[in-house]
Amino acid sequence: MSEKIQRVKGVNDILPVEASRWQYLETVVSQVMARFAYGEIRPPIFEKTELFARSVGEDTDIVSKEMYSFQDMSGTSLTLRPELTAGVVRSYIQNNLQQISPVQKLWYEGPMFRQERPQKGRYRQFWQLGAEAIGSPNPEQDVEIIALFHAILQELGIADSVSLKINSVGDSESRQSYRTALQDFLRPHLNELSETSQHRFETNPLRILDSKAPNDREIIKDAPKIRDCLNASSVDHYEQVLQMLTEMNIPFVQDDLLVRGLDYYTHTIFEFTSDALGAQDAICGGGRYNDLVKELGGNDVPAIGWASGIERLLLVVDALKPAESSSTMDLFLVVQAEELRAHAPGIIQKWRMAGLRCDFDTLKRSMKAQLREANRQRARFAAILGNDEYSQGVVQLKNFETGEQSAIAFDRVVETINNYR
Ligand code: AMP
Repeated sequence: MSEKIQRVKGVNDILPVEASRWQYLETVVSQVMARFAYGEIRPPIFEKTELFARSVGEDTDIVSKEMYSFQDMSGTSLTLRPELTAGVVRSYIQNNLQQISPVQKLWYEGPMFRQERPQKGRYRQFWQLGAEAIGSPNPEQDVEIIALFHAILQELGIADSVSLKINSVGDSESRQSYRTALQDFLRPHLNELSETSQHRFETNPLRILDSKAPNDREIIKDAPKIRDCLNASSVDHYEQVLQMLTEMNIPFVQDDLLVRGLDYYTHTIFEFTSDALGAQDAICGGGRYNDLVKELGGNDVPAIGWASGIERLLLVVDALKPAESSSTMDLFLVVQAEELRAHAPGIIQKWRMAGLRCDFDTLKRSMKAQLREANRQRARFAAILGNDEYSQGVVQLKNFETGEQSAIAFDRVVETINNYR
């Protein structure tokens, strides 16, 4: 026997039993997105590497060590997208979406790729669902996009097990003054910091607040708060966001240490976490990115967005609402006589085109085995076809729930089954 090929480490097969859960989530999501007037966008899976280096940031974990990059035949460096905000913004600029309307509200869903250490809830190919609102600088937009994710959680029935952490990193002036204040505070402790944090001291000191190293955390807990360095307009923006969230009854906690891993954030940043998950408890992260469109060559257009991990959302849904085993099959055609088998595809085709979910046997199995298969697929009915039935233009319709069986004309099968729904 040939050697079996295994799947790549850190990626998943989504099998049919799980796919129905995905479809449920996708249906909920697309309905909520439509209610909030967000349109779907489907950018490509790979982009020029440069796009991520310039947007996500050279010094982030993603760009410095997690990207799947390769050269194509022309020698251009390409990367499987590790996130999609950069791709959406690239597409927004390239397709002049600004001309269509001053605020573009977009959502997406699809696989992302990061070479992280796999564990429960952390994969190398994982799916993200995300939303971006490009064009409005105002706090109403921040609140709307947060409320959008909250609505999805509510529709999925998991809002109560999720908490929202929020912070503001202010505009670039505020960030600059905080950066200086933080460096002044950390300088005397520089030698005690972890190696990564020492490196970030110059390149990206805010990320030190994100450090998980116990000693770093001990030092950081007395660090100045970013809130104290926000200028008046940044404070005003942030306070309006908090006020509107309160008014909308969306619970939140302010988290002074929340900085998030990507470079492009300004003003409001937020994260949703769930206590139904283990170590990888973040189910959604996002924030405002007022400078990104300009930095990627577009106009000076403000924006805000979030991204959520679908596998993690489903882990929470599964933990709170175990899958119900409902029947997805209406009818199984059981062919009793050998010479009738050739009619089966034609009969089942008619039923399928009339909207029934039905199946039949293509292995030429015995009647007993066909009934067993109907049972395995949890069909609600079996339509048994023997020579007598065929000559009279009927099937024996067996209702598995009640055990009843009666002869039904071919052209009344669909109607009969629909009456039982
Ligand atoms: P980020 O783009 O890092 O802000 O991540 C946004 C969301 O995507 C997180 O809150 C997670 O729910 C999810 N996520 C990020 N990385 C992974 C991963 N490696 N595996 C599974 N989900 C992930």
